[in-house]
Amino acid sequence: MSSAYGLLGFKKRVNILKKVKVDGSWKLCPAVVEPNGKLQDKVKVSGRTETHPEGVYYLEWRENGKRMRESVRNRGEVVKRARLRALQLDPEEEKDSRRKTATSTADQPQVVDTPMLPLPVTADFSTTPAHPTAVAHLVFQAIESYIQHVARTAVAAPTKLPTIGEDSNHQQLPAEPVRIDGHSSQTARMQPPPQREAKNELATRKTTVAHAVESYLRDIEPPQREEKTYKSYRSTLHLFRDTCKKRHVEDITRDDCLAFVRHLYSIGNGPRTAHNRLTVVLQLLKLHGMTGLVKGRDKPKYVGKVREMYQAEDLEALFKACGPDEKVRYLFFLLTGERDKEVQHTAWSDIDFERQCARVTEKKALGFKPKDKEEREIPVPIALLDTLKEYRSRQTGSNPHNLVFPTSNGRPDKKFENKLKQITYRNGLNCGYCKTRHKHECSSGPYCAKWFLHKFRHTFATAALENGASIRTVQEWLGHSDLESTMAYLKYVRRKDIHRLVDGSQLAGFITPSAPKSNTKCSPKRAASEKRPRLLMPHADARL
Ligand SMILES: [Zn+2]
Repeated sequence: MSSAYGLLGFKKRVNILKKVKVDGSWKLCPAVVEPNGKLQDKVKVSGRTETHPEGVYYLEWRENGKRMRESVRNRGEVVKRARLRALQLDPEEEKDSRRKTATSTADQPQVVDTPMLPLPVTADFSTTPAHPTAVAHLVFQAIESYIQHVARTAVAAPTKLPTIGEDSNHQQLPAEPVRIDGHSSQTARMQPPPQREAKNELATRKTTVAHAVESYLRDIEPPQREEKTYKSYRSTLHLFRDTCKKRHVEDITRDDCLAFVRHLYSIGNGPRTAHNRLTVVLQLLKLHGMTGLVKGRDKPKYVGKVREMYQAEDLEALFKACGPDEKVRYLFFLLTGERDKEVQHTAWSDIDFERQCARVTEKKALGFKPKDKEEREIPVPIALLDTLKEYRSRQTGSNPHNLVFPTSNGRPDKKFENKLKQITYRNGLNCGYCKTRHKHECSSGPYCAKWFLHKFRHTFATAALENGASIRTVQEWLGHSDLESTMAYLKYVRRKDIHRLVDGSQLAGFITPSAPKSNTKCSPKRAASEKRPRLLMPHADARL
């Protein structure tokens, strides 16, 4: 026992680290392993032991002179994985130790000078055989003795170890075990681990797909990620787990990924959804070091859609159909460009009648945080502020959170979109021919795809750009963390110019016989009649 586990305990140099937040930034710190071999979120920060429940554990070791790291997201797995990793590194150690023994009389394996954290020698294995880990113990022991056997064989029949910068004929094996703290990397030999062992160990280190999925989902549980994001990841990963033919993550290949994509198509997912869902699966695989399985050309291709925007006549018809309070609500969407959640959580304190703007601010009591953690301010037209004032004077009922558009019992209203679709259906504004994914026809219910909340935001953004607001300003108003998201709206703005160009071209002139023969310009009358109605936002020219 002492030999096997003594070896495992002292000779393996696999560090257990944890990435924790120290003074606002993430730092890798050595983890403190409890005397019972468990981890309890304790780490050493500048020599002091601190408890950090946040962050992810990492294993760190050296292989062929290179520092290797692997994240382990499940705390309960860390020590076990470290042991298995150590086992994988073991054969070389074992050989080194034997070579050393041949030249020295030392019977006990010596601890090499190393800054790395020794793995704990757990009492479980030797003193409490009835402990559940006894089974693990047996497994370890079996692997250990196998490795020792292989190692012994390897030493008995001197090998042709490939070396770097050295003739293999006069191979000077270092008298000391190769240090893995990086100071003597020049002596590190490139020695591929014997294939058989590698296979054997791999089999024991594998993670089942089901386990990988559950542990990933645990990591992203709200509030870590938005509820909606979490749920969509969950459904995707469960689907992958249930359809994947491989039991272990490490066995998954490109074919398995493509089979998943085919399955997604077979259940009616479009290319864009398939693309997004595959991305989620690839993220999971990446956590297990499985990268590069699927190349760009394997990924589902989808057409990036032009953002739809409401035309002036749509809005006129909608506002005509709305009741007074409903009208204020959707005007607010249109004139602030806010996201659904942001409008839901807008309080009266966010409306600044003096500075003429609406703000998006955190509401701790309601668990609302602005996306990308940025509060912001959007200038609004005075006309909207007047309408809001009037609407406020009509507001009744309990409103503990001082919300602008609360439900009847004073909570954030999650049904703005549903209510919009109800209004358009009741007033005959549905297009009459579209169908939802669940086969609901818009001709017979509140399902029309033409009406949705985010379209107000698209309309707001496009109109602001068309009216000359700078892209940076619009980015600020929309609360986009990156300019790229805002630039997607430019596509539509540019498209309008292109249409005008196309309409006025000489080629278009062939359509009507009366068109000028050699003139590239169309008649002013015609250009005016074909001009689409434009939305004018009173505030759109204002710059922040
Ligand atoms: Zn429709």
